[in-house]
Amino acid sequence: MSRFFSEKYNTLKPYVPGEQPKDQKYLKLNTNESPFPPSAKAVEAANEAAKKMMLYSDPECCYLSEKMSSLLGVSKDQILFTNGSDEILNFAFMAFCDDKHPAAFPDITYGFYPVYAEINHVKYTEIPLADDFSINVDDYIGINKTIFIANPNAPTGIALKPSQIEMIIKSNPDNIVLVDEAYVDFGAESCIGLVKKYDNLLVTQTFSKSRSMAGARLGLGVGCREIIKDLNTIKYSTNPYNVNSMTMAAGIGALSDEEYTRNNCKEIIKVRAYTEKELLSLGFSTTDSSSNFIFAKHKSVSGEKLYLLLKEKGILVRHFNKPRISDHLRITVGTKEQMQIFIETLKSILEDLK
Ligand code: PMP
Repeated sequence: MSRFFSEKYNTLKPYVPGEQPKDQKYLKLNTNESPFPPSAKAVEAANEAAKKMMLYSDPECCYLSEKMSSLLGVSKDQILFTNGSDEILNFAFMAFCDDKHPAAFPDITYGFYPVYAEINHVKYTEIPLADDFSINVDDYIGINKTIFIANPNAPTGIALKPSQIEMIIKSNPDNIVLVDEAYVDFGAESCIGLVKKYDNLLVTQTFSKSRSMAGARLGLGVGCREIIKDLNTIKYSTNPYNVNSMTMAAGIGALSDEEYTRNNCKEIIKVRAYTEKELLSLGFSTTDSSSNFIFAKHKSVSGEKLYLLLKEKGILVRHFNKPRISDHLRITVGTKEQMQIFIETLKSILEDLK
């Protein structure tokens, strides 16, 4: 730390992203990226847009918002696009949390929530998940806090039904409930339909996972007009050109190829089922994942040991050195071929340990 770094960040512990190794070619099953390339239409549109990069991008993301609004059945001014959904999560902490509206989220969830709370000096409560890692809805009824729920949750993959989330939204009418749907396309049901009914609901989604655009950084939020207006106040006070022109064009291209996205999601769901079955036969237990990753624990070998042995053999998975989940691995679902390699490698590791 330099002697100039503001004291207000003395205790800030930054988010630690999954490893992005440069030294060796790993099979990367650690950051929940899509194993499939982006739609050819997205790439073509981005290439075309690159020719005009001397101009600023459209701060209103007009065409992209129009396209998304007709797909989601909401109006254009109920959507805000951001630089990945991480950015809109930060905006939400900035806009909707303060001393009167502290934050609340599960103790095991997306690791960025506490970081955004810290950087914005927002007090927060971490509500323990049940023993089976599910979210207990009753714990969130009428708690009078700004609530952040990843649905499906990460790293557990477990999803709540919109009717369960609706109970939380309904019982906290004076607070925003943010539903982070980064992984919703892999088997969960979206809460976007509830936006018409509740003025305290903000749903966020991303193009990083199901639309294979993690490197382009495109996320969005959907809520009532007033909520989106507030978030725009934050956006226009920080970075009006938060979505660059190439990404914007790629987003439009991806949305004109929804069949490609749907087919990729179907394939991931199929490969997830195959991998879960194989893991069970190798002595793992898994949670009921509705996402593009599997959260698994072996009956006798520790999470850290398996993580290290897999890494030695060129396979990266995510291990969290955290209470309650240190014996689990979060394994991104890749292609069938990749998961066959993963399972075969795991078999030989477990065989060697016998
Ligand atoms: N929410 C959850 C639950 C996530 O796991 C991630 C991905 N790390 C994000 C949001 C942010 O994704 P992105 O910024 O790529 O849209």
